[in-house]
Amino acid sequence: ARILQVSSKVNSVWYPASSFSSSVPTVKLFIDGKFVESKSDKWIDIHNPATNEVISRVPESTKAEMDAAIASCKRAFPAWADTSVLSRQQVLLRYQQLIKENLKEIARLITMEQGKTLADAEGDVFRGLQVVEHACSVTSLLLGETMPSITKDMDLYSYRLPLGVCAGIAPFNFPAMIPLWMFPMAMVCGNTFLMKPSERVPGATMLLAKLLQDSGAPDGTLNIIHGKHDAVNFICDHPDIKAISFVGSNQAGEYIFERGSRHGKRVQANMGAKNHGVVMPDANKENTLNQLVGAAFGAAGQRCMALSTAILVGEASKWLPELVERAKKLRVNAGDQPGADLGPLITPQAKERVCNLIGSGPKEGATILLDGRNIKVKGYENGNFVGPTIISNVKPNMTCYKEEIFGPVLVVLETETLDEAIKIINDNPYGNGTAIFTTNGATARKYSHQVDVGQVGVNVPIPVPLPMFSFTGSRASFRGDTNFYGKQGIQFYTQLKTITSQWKEEDATLSSPAVVMPT
Ligand code: NAD
Repeated sequence: ARILQVSSKVNSVWYPASSFSSSVPTVKLFIDGKFVESKSDKWIDIHNPATNEVISRVPESTKAEMDAAIASCKRAFPAWADTSVLSRQQVLLRYQQLIKENLKEIARLITMEQGKTLADAEGDVFRGLQVVEHACSVTSLLLGETMPSITKDMDLYSYRLPLGVCAGIAPFNFPAMIPLWMFPMAMVCGNTFLMKPSERVPGATMLLAKLLQDSGAPDGTLNIIHGKHDAVNFICDHPDIKAISFVGSNQAGEYIFERGSRHGKRVQANMGAKNHGVVMPDANKENTLNQLVGAAFGAAGQRCMALSTAILVGEASKWLPELVERAKKLRVNAGDQPGADLGPLITPQAKERVCNLIGSGPKEGATILLDGRNIKVKGYENGNFVGPTIISNVKPNMTCYKEEIFGPVLVVLETETLDEAIKIINDNPYGNGTAIFTTNGATARKYSHQVDVGQVGVNVPIPVPLPMFSFTGSRASFRGDTNFYGKQGIQFYTQLKTITSQWKEEDATLSSPAVVMPT
């Protein structure tokens, strides 16, 4: 019955009645401009995390299908790279409009496959849409540099040229935003793209592909394969792929970075996190507690920028009971239910892992102030729900502090000073995001400058930069040297070519070979 909640429009495009099963729809491949049924004999069930019902099946693409996808990207590249930048811009301009028109549809697919609330799923699409909108300024972004008259009659200038075929490997937690960090930026620069969405949430990517096709992207400019390790290894090893964009866990990211780099590819890998929110006693209490609770438990804590660790400095530790009260009030429900603040975790295994990490707290000396492990959601008893959980008296050597929990769990540490808080954060291996809550400018400035984290919020709990900047990350949260989207994204997906040219008006033919290095 829940499959029927998906509109007929979505159903008919990539969940058409399949030969694989009469009752469970299958996710198609997108190869050379066609949505095609895989011939694979290996399929992965996709579950609605609120019910654990199987809602569709995604194939592990066969070698022949992956070869066909890459051949299509390769074939499409020369013409797409030669397409005028204004024409590529027009495709993206139409695309941003179609994404806006279909935003709710994409969000519905996200909620069904990923579990997050509909409002949050709309935010997921919206943050990706902003990257597409920014990619529309390609006519400025792609400008090279010029230096006239470097010597007599000689000028020097540079072009930013596409690389060729690029590929993307995405995680489950932002089914629209993260693929949209990748292929629109790569394609507007003139590359063609092979996308492998997360095998747990491929639906949004498929709809986004259809919308891109409807925007006028030529066949072969985007191809989509599905699968897990074999598809990832294919991407890392294939000689025709020039660059890989990866977002996901450290386990996968380190592996992909090493294997892709070994094959001579550019690799950018955004990975795991343990984000700290530092609360100073001079902070605006009301605001801070609301922001902290929203950023710790929103999306059930399954955001790489979730504020999963609070450090209460000095007197701010007295606010702990009020923090717990606010967290208790959040409503846990299926993402498509009105009023839901947070939905389920992605899989039963994720729930089990999160519950085990919560359980490790008291065993190592911490205190569970709010325990969401046994939550029951009426009507959704089979869902992967964990309620908001707060663990206090946490120390940096405890498992619940060291591991990225990726669930609705806030671990709380206390320090006497800001310096101690900064030391804890800089000693943590991850450096994705952080926030400080204070009303003192000097405190905020000191923190922003001394903390070794990619994205810092000052009274902003989830400081994901807008796309005119780039999403960064420090230490274990990032491998590579050029970040996603913004100016860095353009750099990642292009290569620089410099041209030094001389045009003399008068005849100044060299009378003998110039054997000395030109100066
Ligand atoms: P994941 O690493 O399990 O999966 C990501 C992708 O890698 C998927 O497409 C998957 O098929 C593939 N993959 C998984 N395991 C692999 C392996 N062992 N070898 C090769 N490929 C593999 O990540 P996830 O669970 O989907 O996403 C959650 C993680 O992503 C969290 O750690 C989160 O912090 C991180 N994340 C980071 C950012 C960021 O920008 N820093 C953003 C979102 C998510």
